[in-house]
Amino acid sequence: MSIFRSLFLWISNNKSLRKNLPNFFFVKKAVKRFMPGENLNDAIEAAKKLQKPKLGTVFTYLGENLTNISEAEFVKDHYKEVLKRISNENLNSEISLKLTQLGLDLSFEKAILFFEQIAALAKELNNFVWIDMEGSNYTQATIDFYNEVHKKFTNTGLCLQAYLMRTKYDIENNLDYNSSIRLVKGAYKESPEIAFQKKSDVDKNYISIAKMLLQQSQTSRRRIVFGTHDLKIINHIKQTAFKLNTNELELHLLYGIQTSEQIKMANEGLNVKTLISYGKAWFPWYMRRLAERPANVWFVLKNIFSG
Ligand SMILES: Cc1cc2nc3c(=O)[nH]c(=O)nc-3n(C[C@H](O)[C@H](O)[C@H](O)COP(=O)(O)OP(=O)(O)OC[C@H]3O[C@@H](n4cnc5c(N)ncnc54)[C@H](O)[C@@H]3O)c2cc1C
Repeated sequence: MSIFRSLFLWISNNKSLRKNLPNFFFVKKAVKRFMPGENLNDAIEAAKKLQKPKLGTVFTYLGENLTNISEAEFVKDHYKEVLKRISNENLNSEISLKLTQLGLDLSFEKAILFFEQIAALAKELNNFVWIDMEGSNYTQATIDFYNEVHKKFTNTGLCLQAYLMRTKYDIENNLDYNSSIRLVKGAYKESPEIAFQKKSDVDKNYISIAKMLLQQSQTSRRRIVFGTHDLKIINHIKQTAFKLNTNELELHLLYGIQTSEQIKMANEGLNVKTLISYGKAWFPWYMRRLAERPANVWFVLKNIFSG
């Protein structure tokens, strides 16, 4: 892992920087590249614009590691509101949430209760709920949680990270054959004992898992989503899907990254969705975006000088 990436992942967890850095105007200004605004209305307006070039959307209300269960209850109500707005405004949109934002650190049972209320409404409205994957301290709990809720709600899917050595095993042994999976590379700082550190190794594992998932998709009812901006990997996936005669290929990418490619792929007929994050708690999430690409930091610095 590069020093650069380690530094920004460290900053993302530093309490004092988390409190103070977001107040600087240039950080606020730079974050707009990845986030249309802090409010749900901002996300909905962005989704409407993306719908014109045939891009669907996924909404994420930012927040993680809540310390008070009443905040988790608020998050549950917020996501229910989001689902109603999606339905009322006829948007091609879904939601994706973090379990520590529903109180996983505080009570597994309460988090399940809150999640099931969200998933039940999503089912009623013919919608779908994705579960983000957080740092490796939460991997097992998140898989256990998903297995529990997926029995009742098949309109739910789980994010898995290709940088973790355990992921292939989890797909083969710890998850139901029909579980829906969104495959990403992984955004947290993990140790070499459990996670591939070199980009080439992560990419190799991503491609290998993607191939396995596409092969399984011929006999399973699972929904598979590839969450990556890596155009080389996307090409690999397209070729494998073509060889396997799999016509439904679904890709999710983040708002503000590879936008022209997202539009191009949607025009090619692929099912592409843009994940839009919004909310006030953007600091750790934004630091993870900076860690992914050194060039993003120059973008922040440019904002200091452009006023
Ligand atoms: C829909 C979606 C959901 C995700 N959910 C999770 C999750 O639940 N848990 C989790 O750990 N991670 C999640 N991630 C983040 C993911 O793990 C990676 O950190 C992130 O996607 C960068 O990896 P990459 O696959 O794009 O490949 P990379 O090799 O990192 O990037 C490939 C290319 O994409 C572009 N790019 C990538 N990142 C950026 C960036 N930040 N800014 C500008 N350009 C960039 C660059 O051109 C880069 O060369 C999610 C990502 C997506 C797209």
